Amino acid sequence: MALVVQKYGGSSVADADKIKNVARRAVAVKEGGNQVVLVVSAMGDTTDELIELANQVTDHPDDRELDVLLSTGEIVSSTLLAMALRSLGANAISLSGAQAGIRTDAVYSRARILGIDPHRISKELEKNKIVIVAGFQGTTEEMDITTLGRGGSDTTAVALAVGLGADRCEIYTDVDGVYTADPRLVPEAKRLDEIGYEEMLELASYGARVVHPRAVELGEVYRMPILVASSFSDKAGTLIHGGAPMEVGNKVRGIAHDVDVAKITIVGVPDKPGVAGAIFDPLARANISVDTIVQNASINKITDLTFTVAKGELAEAMKVIEPVVESIGARECVSDTKLAKVSVIGAGMQTAPGYAARMFSALYEEGINIELITTSEIRITCIIDEARAGDALRALHRAFELEKGV
Ligand code: ADP
Ligand code: ASP
Ligand code: MG
Repeated sequence: MALVVQKYGGSSVADADKIKNVARRAVAVKEGGNQVVLVVSAMGDTTDELIELANQVTDHPDDRELDVLLSTGEIVSSTLLAMALRSLGANAISLSGAQAGIRTDAVYSRARILGIDPHRISKELEKNKIVIVAGFQGTTEEMDITTLGRGGSDTTAVALAVGLGADRCEIYTDVDGVYTADPRLVPEAKRLDEIGYEEMLELASYGARVVHPRAVELGEVYRMPILVASSFSDKAGTLIHGGAPMEVGNKVRGIAHDVDVAKITIVGVPDKPGVAGAIFDPLARANISVDTIVQNASINKITDLTFTVAKGELAEAMKVIEPVVESIGARECVSDTKLAKVSVIGAGMQTAPGYAARMFSALYEEGINIELITTSEIRITCIIDEARAGDALRALHRAFELEKGV
């Protein structure tokens, strides 16, 4: 008897009919002789709606209260799924993150899982029940409820698969796998049969939201294979695992895009030791994560320094930076939010020359200006005008001939 851990995302449990669909799928897996643990996200846009509600009652929602509020979205979907399963005659029980033994640190809104106590889930599985766990949440030592950050149900699922000793973790969503680019924007994108953790981590971190990067990271650390497939079909899906070949015919495996980018430029920065520290230390202390950093060559010991943050963190970052601009004697600080990142990713690129040039030419031919460039060993990222993100994706997909398969 195998233990199967399946996660169903928000679009897969968006209404009553979809919840019934998930229930039917789970019953079929159970009838195949398996033990079944289901992890669910909140229905549809529930999490966004709850955040909106909190913002309607206050400008600064208390972080502890906000986490309790957001955790209720997943409680709703897990309980409804348990009811749907029972109405099909299956023995099922829903558990909150706390009841399921998901222990986290106390960093509200982006808590990290410290460990899983699998006792309660195991006890219910032994009673032959289908166990449904509310995703995206856990509890601190003090029994305060925490959430794991947006998209965190994927992380719950992989952590449970590891904690319960499952052979793999299955993530069901509204696409039938990981594609060479977001299939909503690039109709000719191709589904990948398999992909390694490293490439998937880079794709996910740079905007391919089909799996959360922390879930991929956990999978890699514990060598847990992750299957990404559709909850609306029985198509094969994409297996993320350690055995996927790194070097394939086409050295670019996928293209990601992310429109959650804001740019801050500090103009007229004195070019002397200690200045970068004076700028980035307070940002780090404010828990603001800075992505791309570019410093121009200095003229007469004066330079410009540009970096990017998530759009949601821009206001806070500007608040932190404005006094620093004064104290270091820089001229001013300006921001831009109408930006996007497009990234070309592939493990085989690190040993093959010419990929950057091909990317820049493709963007140039499309009339797209590159504002900033960053690279890792297996990725090249350009920051461009947000309005051109779709065009850039399609042009790059063509330039690297990804429609021919990888
Ligand atoms: P869920 O609600 O199941 O968590 P998400 O909306 O978080 O689903 O993720 C699925 C979406 O990810 C797809 O609908 C698709 O538009 C988007 N996506 C972005 N990049 C990719 C990619 N490379 N492959 C597949 N889907 C992608
Ligand atoms: N409901 C949460 C969110 O919308 C977690 C998730 O869906 O994974 O971010
Ligand atoms: Mg998701």
